[in-house]
This record gives sequence, structure tokens and C-alpha cells, in this order.
Amino acid sequence: MDFPIGTLLLGAALFIVLALIIALPLFDRKTPAVRPPTRREALEAEHQTLIRNIRELDFDFRTHKISEADYRTLRAALVQRAAEVLRALKTLEERDVDAEIEAQVAKLRKTTTLLATDGRACPSCGASLPTGARFCPSCGQAVSSESVQQAT
Ligand SMILES: [Zn+2]
Repeated sequence: MDFPIGTLLLGAALFIVLALIIALPLFDRKTPAVRPPTRREALEAEHQTLIRNIRELDFDFRTHKISEADYRTLRAALVQRAAEVLRALKTLEERDVDAEIEAQVAKLRKTTTLLATDGRACPSCGASLPTGARFCPSCGQAVSSESVQQAT
């Protein structure tokens, strides 16, 4: 059999294309798993595992697979670890809440400084009023052009 060179080249090209089609999904599949779990996700996963282990241990004890001494020792260790994980999660949550409050304060501060004032002050609390304001943003007092006084 005598193959022309064109057929051989076409065969080689087809082989490369097929190899790429087969190989590409293998690389793709790796991509989503690249992100490592956050500390919070890791703790939540560990907590779930510990709870499951405690339930399995209870089941093993009820079905007499382990001695009462082993059961008590293992269970105490698991409960202690679960409590530690839960405390760590609570600390993380408190830190998240603190960070969120600080972010909100920073945002509010930014919008407050963005409001230009026209030199008027609230007759009730003395806060400077934004340009054209009809209500004091600080205390809610209604302000009209008659009742405003110049800020000092
Ligand atoms: Zn006011």
C-alpha cells in the first residue's frame, strides 16, 4: 500500500486535534478545585464531620460494637473538639460582624462628607444642613428658609 504524503499529513493533523479534544476537559476539570477552602468553610466542614462521628459512635455503642469505657473516652474527645471548632467559628463570625459595622460606618462617613452645605445650621441641634435641605439629616427637624440661622 502506498499512501500519498497529503493523506499522512491529514491523518497526523486529525490525530493532534483528537488528542487535544480528549485532553482539554482533563485540564478544565482541575480549575474549579484550585480555590482552597476559607478558614470558615474548613471549620464548618470539620464541625459537620465531628457531629457525624459522634452520631456514629452513639450508634456503635447502642449496637454493642465498642466497650462503654472506649465509648466514653472517644465521645468526650469528639465533643471537646466539636466545642473548640464551634468557639472558633463564633469568634470568626464576631470578627465578620465587626468588620461589617466598620465598613458601614466608613460608607456613611463618605456620603456625609459628600453632602455640600450652604452654610445653614439646624435651629434644633445646630448641625450644618446640606444645600437645599428641608429636613435636618441629624435630628429630623423640618427646616424652612425662615427658621434657618447662619452657622457660626
Ligand atoms: Zn437638627
